[in-house]
Amino acid sequence: MAGGARGSAPGGARGGAPGGARDGTRGGSPDGLEALEREVIGCRRCPRLVAWREEVARTRRAAFASEEYWGRPVPGFGDPAARVVVLGLAPAAHGGNRTGRVFTGDRSGDWLVAALYRAGLANQPTSRSRDDGLRLRDCRVVAAVRCAPPANRPTPAERDACLPYAVRELELLGQPRVVVCLGAFAWDAALRILAALGCATPRPRRRFGHGAELATERLTLLGCFHPSQQNTFTGKLTEPMLDAVLARATELAAAAPGASDQPSG
Ligand code: SF4
Repeated sequence: MAGGARGSAPGGARGGAPGGARDGTRGGSPDGLEALEREVIGCRRCPRLVAWREEVARTRRAAFASEEYWGRPVPGFGDPAARVVVLGLAPAAHGGNRTGRVFTGDRSGDWLVAALYRAGLANQPTSRSRDDGLRLRDCRVVAAVRCAPPANRPTPAERDACLPYAVRELELLGQPRVVVCLGAFAWDAALRILAALGCATPRPRRRFGHGAELATERLTLLGCFHPSQQNTFTGKLTEPMLDAVLARATELAAAAPGASDQPSG
């Protein structure tokens, strides 16, 4: 078994995140989310991904050779009553799989969390480690597949094995209003999650695109290019582009029915 940090579940649910369930007006189930986190962290359902995540944690990248990798599934992180959900593909081998928190310890995390901070959804612009003090406000970040996959490519079977965790997480959040889908894989996964939640979506399926918007009876999907180095280095995704999507997400969340309570903290 690879990885370190046994017994300390990552995630923002512990102790209550700013502006979330504390006011009791938006629902959300911190206890349910903590139970889900424990279940996710112990999951070994996908043999290929279990082997890969543990192999990466054992061999390590040279720059992190002195660190103990997490090497396990990475649960969702953030406000337990979030109205804005950011859905990624899967933890990065040397990012989330190393640090134990999604979008933490790599360039994609730097980009995403800096944008969340600019949008007022995070208390700081950096995401370095599980104990760096990062708190998300009215926002939760989750991965569609919770173990790091080889070449960032989970198989359809692995995706289907893991998606029930995301379905349950959205249910436990109470009133999520917007899902920002980082890339086509996340967009497709969100459509599958909506179907599992019994939410009708249009046929034929709406295709992913940056800025794509799909309103359903339950929540709205927003498409956004993934903040991967490939996209940010080439200028395919710029900071203003990411900021615009997150601004639209917060606008939609605030305008949703029953959204009169404003995030605090
Ligand atoms: Fe379990 Fe998901 Fe990891 Fe598969 S990808 S082992 S279902 S946590």
